[in-house]
Parts: sequence; structure tokens; C-alpha cells
Amino acid sequence: MLDHVLIGALAGGMIQNSPTAFGFSTFIHLFLDKIPHYFPDKRWKEALTISIDLTLCTAALSLFWYGPFSKSVFWGGLGGIWLDLLLVGIPPIFHSKLGQWHVHRQPHHADERYIWLDVAVIATTTAIIYILH
Ligand SMILES: [Zn+2]
Repeated sequence: MLDHVLIGALAGGMIQNSPTAFGFSTFIHLFLDKIPHYFPDKRWKEALTISIDLTLCTAALSLFWYGPFSKSVFWGGLGGIWLDLLLVGIPPIFHSKLGQWHVHRQPHHADERYIWLDVAVIATTTAIIYILH
């Protein structure tokens, strides 16, 4: 999910308009879901991965809100992640047809080598945000 926040924030920084940044990031979320990514198959690893991911997302969004960024960076980041919070985080919605469609269209891989693809996306996006800022 951190990928969604950072790419959304990057888009928000370029758009410089909070409502447009939020809408655009929401829209590209559905395309970004198609990038293959790591998702563990064991319960304890899943809990650990989601905890770390949510912590980093909260930290990033806090930084975008309180740090020296334009507000559209924050709104882009939030626009990138709110669909996941809604579709995955709320059990009745997760188990609904819409929630299951969202999960099953994603190329999840339990092979730990896929972590590096996530790391590459996160590192590249962070570097671009840093350079552009
Ligand atoms: Zn998603």
C-alpha cells in the first residue's frame, strides 16, 4: 500500500490541486494494483507485512501533511490508498463481490523475491519526490 501512497503523493506534487490530485490518485490506483507484488501466504507473515505497511503509510501521510509539502501531495497520497482501506479494511466490504473482485484482480506473489520489486517502486518514487521537492 505504501507504493500507492507514494505514487499518489508524487502525482499530487505535480498536479498542485488537492481535489484533482485525490481523484487522479484514486483512478490510477486500479492500474497500479496490476503491478505484481509480494503478499505472503502464511498468516503471521501477512499480519507482519500489513502492520509494517500501514505504519509506513501513516508515517508518510503524516510527513506529507505536517512537512514542507503542498497539501496536494497529502491528498494525492490519501487518494492513492483510500480504496484499499475501504475495500480491504472493512470486513463486510472485503467479502462483498466488489471487495473480492478487487483482491482477485491483483497479481499477488508469496515468493519473497517480489519484495524487491516493491522496494524498487518505493525507492524510485521516494527519490523522485525528494528531487522534485
Ligand atoms: Zn487496491
